[in-house]
Amino acid sequence: MSVSVRVLNADEARLLTAARLVAVEHAPYLAHALFSTQPVAAEGLGTFAVDRGWRLYVDPATLVGWGPALAGGVLVHEIGHLVRAHAERADALGADYDHHLWNLAADISIHDDLLAAGVPLPDGVVTPAALGLAEGGIEEVYYAALSQQTSSDMRLDGVDDRGGGGDDDCGCGSGAGAPPASWELPADDPSAPAVGPADASMTRRRVAQAVRARRERQPWEVASRLAALGRPDAGRSDLEMASPDRYRSP
Ligand SMILES: [Zn+2]
Repeated sequence: MSVSVRVLNADEARLLTAARLVAVEHAPYLAHALFSTQPVAAEGLGTFAVDRGWRLYVDPATLVGWGPALAGGVLVHEIGHLVRAHAERADALGADYDHHLWNLAADISIHDDLLAAGVPLPDGVVTPAALGLAEGGIEEVYYAALSQQTSSDMRLDGVDDRGGGGDDDCGCGSGAGAPPASWELPADDPSAPAVGPADASMTRRRVAQAVRARRERQPWEVASRLAALGRPDAGRSDLEMASPDRYRSP
């Protein structure tokens, strides 16, 4: 796969802004995070991805093909990797973790919530149910379950674990916990300044605050789970409170 990263042109930037606004419509509590990312064009990627510095890689052809409505749903997916700290949580798995399985575990956790909330995603995205797993689990639990399945398990054959198709070996990028892809920008690239750990942490806290404010008005399962998972000091009681059985969409 050959990927060429560059600055978005004006038309692409306008289309991405429309997609971001659709994403905010679906997930208002993610507004700050959505506009904290640094978008760049990634020709040939075939999908969207994020890196550890909160760069958002957008294949312009895919953006056009999806249109703002579907692209907005995929943006909620990609930002989900960042606010749920999937890269940092992957680090905690140890040096020999399987990044494909981790990306899959992260994706089904995100899809589980977004599909329940009616967020549009490309056809065929993988869900916990498709892999024989219960809904409402967290990433580490799914990862452990998937790790126990053998590579010959039919349920994992041909699974598309990405937010929106594409054909690459890096899933949703290093922001989802994969090793940095060859086409990802260096951390100090001046054309798209990376978001550092302190700013990322602040953004997650702002998302968590917005989620809590929203939860008081509308008990909603996505918001509830993000309130727990997006906060560094989330504890067991938060995760229990975030059970989708308790906060099913009305
Ligand atoms: Zn993903």
